[in-house]
Amino acid sequence: MSNWFEKSAFEIREAVAGGTVTAREVATSFLDRIDAVDEKVGAYTQVWHDEALAQADAVDAKIAAGKLVGALAGVPISLKELICTQSGETTCSSKILAGFQSPYDATVTQKLLADDAVVLGKVNMDEFAMGSSTENSAVQKTSNPWDLSRVPGGSSGGSAASVASATSAISFGSDTGGSIRQPAAFCGCVGLKPTYGRVSRYGLVAFASSLDQIGPLTRDVRDAALAMNVISGKDPRDATSADLPAEDFTKKLGDSIAGLKIGLPKEYFVDALGSEVRALVEKATKVLEDQGAEIVEVSLPHTEYAVSVYYIVAPAEASANLARFDGVRYGFRHPDAKNVSEMYVKTKSEGFGEEVQRRIMLGTYVLSSGYYDAYYLKAQKVRTLITQDFDEAFKACDIILTPTTPSTAFTMGEKSNDPLEMYLNDIFTISANLAGIPGISLPCGTSASGLPVGFQLLSKAFDEATLLQTAHCYEQHADVNLGIPNL
Ligand code: GLN
Repeated sequence: MSNWFEKSAFEIREAVAGGTVTAREVATSFLDRIDAVDEKVGAYTQVWHDEALAQADAVDAKIAAGKLVGALAGVPISLKELICTQSGETTCSSKILAGFQSPYDATVTQKLLADDAVVLGKVNMDEFAMGSSTENSAVQKTSNPWDLSRVPGGSSGGSAASVASATSAISFGSDTGGSIRQPAAFCGCVGLKPTYGRVSRYGLVAFASSLDQIGPLTRDVRDAALAMNVISGKDPRDATSADLPAEDFTKKLGDSIAGLKIGLPKEYFVDALGSEVRALVEKATKVLEDQGAEIVEVSLPHTEYAVSVYYIVAPAEASANLARFDGVRYGFRHPDAKNVSEMYVKTKSEGFGEEVQRRIMLGTYVLSSGYYDAYYLKAQKVRTLITQDFDEAFKACDIILTPTTPSTAFTMGEKSNDPLEMYLNDIFTISANLAGIPGISLPCGTSASGLPVGFQLLSKAFDEATLLQTAHCYEQHADVNLGIPNL
């Protein structure tokens, strides 16, 4: 029997729909793999053994009855802890939501189930998606499968670690400032943040509502395109979802990129960029150039303000979004309080971790009447300038190419006492969220010490098709095959 856990989602779907293998066999292969390696990696917070097998059986029954099956038939997937599922719990890896059962499925969950994916369980994250290492999880540690002493990145660290360690074929994470792309880069997988509005946020527990998007982490580009076909689209329950006709994101895979203009923003190739990462990103650029792309220099002059703007806007929105976790309606309530205000204080002080409390305080501060104009309003104005930078740059190119992260995965504990150091990890990914444009991180090799390195491609809003075309072309010609780590 093949090791189905080594296969791509595309291969699995073909084999299941074509009757070469049953969905149950595939699910069993992945569940066994989880049992064998996840104790070391720690990607999963919940494994739904019985339910996954029942879902797989339902897919097999459809096939046996000659019915049509969905686009992800029998594909074993995992979901980040902040995507609502009626099954199991939705904890956002926070103590305040320990044991919380969502009364409904997120739109993305519904779509995945409707297309016959098999949900293996939920995966770890930084609490409420705040962080870049998954060390802020209140539940457990997650290791980088390539070096267990290192972080997988974050906040979708469990997602990236599960795809890299082959314990799910696709994982769905969320990206507010880099949380899909940065862990994808650290773990050597593909991670796509869609255009803001491409994917419904209904049932995605909100961190920063003007920045959050759900997206796939996969083993290859084609799988990312397949996943996008399933999860995209207008949702009447999310007013910010875009009303666009359904699109086949695989349609341009395999098309030549001859004549495509790829811009390198000069502000991204600065001293902070490690030399190993720089060399591999330059090599990736060369691969695309050899395929006929024209490489041009572009400028994104307001890049230097992106981290500051993000750490005003995102905490401001978070402070409003997280106000609902007050011990009254959801999850944890401090048992020992004399009155309601003491209950609020004790619940939040004990229920939220340090980083989440820091964000709530930052956000409350920048929105307070005395500081609103100086911080929040000013940040919104600079956000507009950052968006305009991209509008300008995309007049001169179709795709922008940058590093995903300044360095490779760092060791656990290395940055956890220095919030600013941690925030600087997002320097290359944050601007895409502020501007609402899509971005993909792709593996482009390994460092001398064997750690994956990623680079990022960005496109105009709603041009995921060209983004995936370029990414696929790179993948086909780059000869970067990290394989599966030895665990
Ligand atoms: N690391 C960033 C933060 O802590 C981004 C997180 C995210 O994209 N969810 O805010």
